[in-house]
Amino acid sequence: MNNFVLTRPTGLADCTAAAAQPGASFIAGGTTVLDLWKLGAYPTTQLVDLNGLNLRGIRAGPDALRLGALERMNAVGEHAGVATYYPVISQALLLSASPQIRNMGTMGGNLLQRPRSLTYRNPDPHRHDGPSRFDAIFGVTPHSRAPHPSDLAVALLALDASLRIVGPGRAAGERTLKISEFYRVPSDSLKFDSLQPGELITAVEARVPFARHSAYVKIRDRASYQFAVVSAAVVLDLDGSTIREARIAAGGVGTIPWRFPAAEAALAGRPATPESFRAAVAVMDRDAVTHPHNAFKVDLLRRTTVRALQQVVAQENAGPTSAHT
Ligand SMILES: Cc1cc2nc3c(=O)[nH]c(=O)nc-3n(C[C@H](O)[C@H](O)[C@H](O)COP(=O)(O)OP(=O)(O)OC[C@H]3O[C@@H](n4cnc5c(N)ncnc54)[C@H](O)[C@@H]3O)c2cc1C
Repeated sequence: MNNFVLTRPTGLADCTAAAAQPGASFIAGGTTVLDLWKLGAYPTTQLVDLNGLNLRGIRAGPDALRLGALERMNAVGEHAGVATYYPVISQALLLSASPQIRNMGTMGGNLLQRPRSLTYRNPDPHRHDGPSRFDAIFGVTPHSRAPHPSDLAVALLALDASLRIVGPGRAAGERTLKISEFYRVPSDSLKFDSLQPGELITAVEARVPFARHSAYVKIRDRASYQFAVVSAAVVLDLDGSTIREARIAAGGVGTIPWRFPAAEAALAGRPATPESFRAAVAVMDRDAVTHPHNAFKVDLLRRTTVRALQQVVAQENAGPTSAHT
């Protein structure tokens, strides 16, 4: 039996100091931690429960977004301001997991959940997955080929969102990291994030005045309660029907959430039409590494992205209430 001590500090400094101890880590909703712990794949001597901290709060308006790290997935997904001004986040969250898990799972925990592969979930440290149709096609390393599982992270990458992070000790203080800096390809170990020991995510922030022109499309093996085979998050800055700027991120394809600057550049200045979308997604396979089991993901990625782009246009044509539907 892998026993642990559970503590519930009520101050940030006590939390980060406790979690900086060897073998300690945070627990928020517990839907990943306890799952892995039961499998014997989450060795820990001390779990520091974050639920005594005041890390709640949802602010979502046209100028700025701020989500407390302990906000639950359902609360954020169903929030009227998030659905109106940041539909890509609302859609990504409401297409995640089940209502029960979304009622427990938090913003911070979702971003740090582990990939759903034996490499990450089998207690044997030498256990690695064989080639499978789920394998990532971007950012594959000798350590991992497992796609990063968070839908929320893909939406936040497309928004170029930032994370507020607090570390242990006075010197560490608070820092802000872009989502694109927070995730790193697991090149020297299985670690895919940039957190230092004891560091805690306190909030998610974004400033994207055009984010209401955004959408998330998720392709999965069954229509509910399933991780993405491929997903696409897109955000468009539109001048009438012309695209000023496009942001595209995808899930299910990278060992971390993946962004596509070449496809984004191909859309800038173009009309928001199916022809422009199809031309832009043609370059999305740059740097893709496939094998016979997962090569289908290249075409699926292109089609999923076109569908997400078309969904933004359809939402725009349907008017301001469409984001709630
Ligand atoms: C059956 C099933 C289906 C699922 N389907 C999906 C899906 O389709 N899409 C999807 O995105 N997810 C899915 N999930 C994953 C689920 O969304 C995550 O388990 C959940 O979001 C994790 O949040 P939590 O608060 O419970 O995290 P916890 O289990 O409490 O913590 C997870 C990790 O994050 C760390 N952590 C937590 N909060 C912080 C913080 N503020 N700062 C620093 N570290 C922190 C913990 O130390 C731990 O390592 C599914 C899960 C299950 C069990």
